[in-house]
Formats: sequence, C-alpha cells, structure tokens
Amino acid sequence: MSDDHTWITEVNEDAELGPRLKFGFRADRELYRGQSDFQEVVVAEGPAYGRMLFLDGYMMTTERDEFVYHEMLSHTAVHVAKSRGPVRRVLIIGGGDGGLAREVLRHDSVEHVDMVEIDAAVIEVSKEYLPTIGSAFDDPRLNVLAEDGNAFIHNAEPGTYDVILIDSADPVGPGIVLFQPPFYTAVRNALTPHGVMAAQGMSPWLQRDGQRFMFGNLGEVFGQVHAFVATIPTYPGGQWTFALCAAGQVDPHGIDDAAADAATAGSHYYTAAVHHGAFALPPFIRENTVDVALARRG
Ligand code: SAM
Repeated sequence: MSDDHTWITEVNEDAELGPRLKFGFRADRELYRGQSDFQEVVVAEGPAYGRMLFLDGYMMTTERDEFVYHEMLSHTAVHVAKSRGPVRRVLIIGGGDGGLAREVLRHDSVEHVDMVEIDAAVIEVSKEYLPTIGSAFDDPRLNVLAEDGNAFIHNAEPGTYDVILIDSADPVGPGIVLFQPPFYTAVRNALTPHGVMAAQGMSPWLQRDGQRFMFGNLGEVFGQVHAFVATIPTYPGGQWTFALCAAGQVDPHGIDDAAADAATAGSHYYTAAVHHGAFALPPFIRENTVDVALARRG
C-alpha cells in the first residue's frame, strides 16, 4: 500500500548502542511548531491518538491516552497520602500540559496546587492546542510558576506539601538533576510528615540503566521505595513505571478503597482495584527498581 502520509518519528537511542528503535505517529495536521528557550515544542494531530505533544521529538502525551499517566501518577499518590493524613497542598514539578493539575484538583480536600514548569511555552501551547488536557488552568486553587523545579524545591519551606508529583523528562542532559540525591533530599524535606511523593519511573524495557540510577538514588534518600506500573501505549515499550516514596515507611495498600473510588468516579483508568494491582510487579521490573532501592537504602 502506498504511503504518502506525514509521519513524526521518535527515535529511541541507547547511550552505547545508538539508535535502536523508531516509533512513527501519523500526523495529518501540524497545529504548532516552535523553538522555546528550552526545547522544540510540536503539537500535531493524527488518526490513532488525536492531538499529540512532542518535546524535542519525544512523544510526551496525547489526547486519547493521557488519562493513564495523569490519573495514575496523581490519584495513586493522593490516596496513599490521604491514608496517612489530610491532603491540602500539592506540588507538581514539570507537568506543563496541565493534565496532572486537572486530576489533583478533582480532590475536594486540595486547597492549593503549585505547578512549577520550567518552560512557559509548554503551558501556553497546551492551553491553546490541548484544551482537554489543560482544562484546569483557570481553577483558583492552581498557582502556575514558570521556573526551574530544582531551584524551586531547594528554596521550599520544609514540611509544606502533602503530595509532591514529579512529571519529569528523562535523566539525560540538564534533566539529570531531577533524579539525583540532592533533589530527592529537597523533595523529602518539603513534604509534610505524612506526605507522599510520586514520580514517573521510565520504561522497564528500554531505560533499565536510567531506572537503576533513579531507584538507587531514591533508596539512598527515602529508604523504602515502592514502584507501580501502568500501560501507556504511546510511550516506548508501552509499559511504564512510577515510583512512590515517603519519609519513612508507607503502605501503598493502606488506602480507603470506597473513598478512593468515590473521589475518582468517572476516571478512565484509575480505580482502587487498579491501584492495588499496579503495585504487583513482575520480577524483571521489581529487580530493576525496588530491589535496587533496597540495596542502596541508608
Ligand atoms: N505530562 C506529560 C505526560 O503525559 O507524560 C509529559 C510532561 S513532560 C514529561 C515533562 C515536563 O517537565 C516538560 O514540560 C518540561 O518542560 C518540564 N521540565 C523539564 N525540566 C524541568 C525542570 N527542571 N523544572 C520544571 N519543569 C521541568
């Protein structure tokens, strides 16, 4: 069959092996392309996943599967934190598309959300071209800051946030600081005593070195580290890992299931049952994440 369509191709590279996989997204319409101070920002539309956001050529989110990442990263952490104390103040680092803020603000107990996104262009482009994702920017509880999350967290008042969500890029180049012990230590210090942090934890298939780096550092700073998984079809490998930690011991299964289901009624992925199942790790993921953290705990 002839193919005269336009495609956006994400190249997956390994530090040693070089380019090893390509993922193609048909893009019938380009809605935005621009170079910000930090990265190339592209929004295009295709038949499989609707509108898609690419940063520096890497798929970040799409209209049709964004709910998995945003529901799982937010509600999992919020409900575990609620099992330990009230959740009123939340910090999101990154997350410029607004999807995490939208989900966090579904919780009535949340009084204030600081969203610290380094690139104002991501925020503006998402408001304009991804309105179903960036649908909560007008909520008066949301305070959007176009700042470096690493600098912000080092200046945060100790004990400020009940939940901290890290919606980072990968641990390469300047983004590596968001995976290193000084950053995680500052995150831990900014949490309330019952607070919980969660972060995207990369592909268990294609970022095994990055995962060991991240989970080892988390183990060093937080001690106990939990990992959970979700299926994200547009991310390389399709299966994604997340990390969840608190200062001290935390039981991710200690949530109130009925309250969690009530708070997230209408979600497309997250339920209390999915929450519990997400922490059941296949051994090849466990040994590359929580076991690495365990071996490094202080
Ligand atoms: N929420 C999306 C999704 O569904 O996966 C992807 C968001 S993207 C992974 C991460 C965001 O973090 C980008 O918008 C990027 O500009 C931002 N970012 C990168 N480094 C940052 C830093 N040091 N401080 C704050 N935000 C940062």
